[in-house]
Amino acid sequence: MKIIHSVEALRQAVKTEKKVGKSVGFVPTMGFLHEGHMSLVKAAKKDNDFVVASIFVNPTQFGENEDLDAYPKDLEGDQNKLEQEGVDILFYPTVEEMYPKGYSTYVSVEGDMTGVLCGSSRPGHFRGVATIVTKLFNMVAPDRAYFGQKDAQQVSVIERMVKDLNMDLEIIPCPIHREADGLAMSSRNTYLNEKERKDALVLSQSLFEAKETILSGERRANKIIEGIIDKISTVDYAIIDYVEIVDALTLHKIDEIKGDILIAIAVKVGKPRLIDNLRLEV
Ligand code: AMP
Repeated sequence: MKIIHSVEALRQAVKTEKKVGKSVGFVPTMGFLHEGHMSLVKAAKKDNDFVVASIFVNPTQFGENEDLDAYPKDLEGDQNKLEQEGVDILFYPTVEEMYPKGYSTYVSVEGDMTGVLCGSSRPGHFRGVATIVTKLFNMVAPDRAYFGQKDAQQVSVIERMVKDLNMDLEIIPCPIHREADGLAMSSRNTYLNEKERKDALVLSQSLFEAKETILSGERRANKIIEGIIDKISTVDYAIIDYVEIVDALTLHKIDEIKGDILIAIAVKVGKPRLIDNLRLEV
């Protein structure tokens, strides 16, 4: 696996492979890789002749009081994992390489899609995401890019952006990878102490219980939301950011559970703010 730090070298390396007709898969990440990330890499390896992964903790998608400086890092561990999985290039740029002096251009997906869920509690977050993902797409020029449903709203925003800006690639959404006990894998789980790690199970459990309630016939979104809040509130120090049920495609809030729906939650459990979701066809 080649480790590349500069945009120019990355472009050259990918061009060489494309010239001989290879398809290129791309997996963007912020590092501290776990099996959730690796499931994206595996999917990319399966579908493409050549795979590029990136590690970049993108400052423009973090708010002022968020964990940018504390974001966990393990470059050596990440390198080993990517190498073992047969990734061809790891792109690992500096902030200066991505945002050189004088940088002034941003991509913003406007409207309802970015005004709900994480968009309303993390203003500017999706502008940062859309900007860095556009830049990375322009640098790698992949045929396919892989994103996790763990960040369901991110997938929707990126799919919207790709469609709106006529970007010439396919977005491949990949299922949420969970720990054996149900906790959605996340680099931020490393912030949890032993007790918080146990208590954090209320997130996935509340979603699984909501699914059961829906499958047994409940169609009122507010009842389902109440049930989730009650479950999460059994952990007295958990702080709920949001519990929402939306149409999975438009991300509009719904009152009646019907069609392709997304139940999305964000909860602070001790230090980290954790997100989880469940998509259901009713
Ligand atoms: P991050 O490093 O958190 O920016 O994540 C990089 C990519 O991995 C994003 O597309 C995430 O949605 C995806 N990802 C993170 N955690 C998981 C997970 N538990 N299951 C599936 N994909 C994930």
